[in-house]
Amino acid sequence: MANLNIDSVKDRTFDAIVIGSGISGGWSAKELTEKGMKTLVLERGRDVQHIKDYPTTNMMPWEFKHRGQMPKEVTDENPVISRCYAFNEDAAHFFVKDKEHPYVQDKPFDWIRGYQVGGKSLTWARHTQRWSDYDYEGPARDGFAVGLAHPLQRYCTVVQAM
Ligand SMILES: Cc1cc2nc3c(=O)[nH]c(=O)nc-3n(C[C@H](O)[C@H](O)[C@H](O)COP(=O)(O)OP(=O)(O)OC[C@H]3O[C@@H](n4cnc5c(N)ncnc54)[C@H](O)[C@@H]3O)c2cc1C
Repeated sequence: MANLNIDSVKDRTFDAIVIGSGISGGWSAKELTEKGMKTLVLERGRDVQHIKDYPTTNMMPWEFKHRGQMPKEVTDENPVISRCYAFNEDAAHFFVKDKEHPYVQDKPFDWIRGYQVGGKSLTWARHTQRWSDYDYEGPARDGFAVGLAHPLQRYCTVVQAM
């Protein structure tokens, strides 16, 4: 008997598809799945395995070749991400290098990116703001609202839309 995969279409059909597994995508997927939706998360970057892919986590500053600082040739090659305080020897492997994915800056805009499962949640500084509705409305009050400015705001919009 022919081996027909009659479930193929069903297996590849989803209620929701989330692009990117950073804080926005990861949290959206959590909420969607908890509401019973069959959810597919697509991530462009590599998987990051706990412990194995944290090569610097237990290193002391003096164990780094440049004591944690980036050498001049690296900062010269990466003028954008070098403006991020965290682009150092201990975390550089979680940053997209300027030449890997260049972009045009019409106005000054330092685009710090991390292409991996978890996105920039692997580099964020663990400072968690306690936002209220008043904070979200701040840009509109001050006349420069563009909408969906913060990951949490995007997430709230997704959840409210469900
Ligand atoms: C060094 C540093 C420290 C920070 N500290 C703080 C802090 O203390 N407190 C705070 O509130 N915020 C902090 N931030 C900001 C915060 O980390 C980010 O706003 C937040 O992590 C962004 O989450 P995100 O999910 O929107 O985007 P990202 O984390 O950038 O996730 C986007 C994901 O989408 C993937 N992706 C992109 N394109 C595609 C595609 N075409 N197909 C599939 N996948 C794709 C990427 O690989 C990535 O995984 C910090 C940021 C940095 C860089």
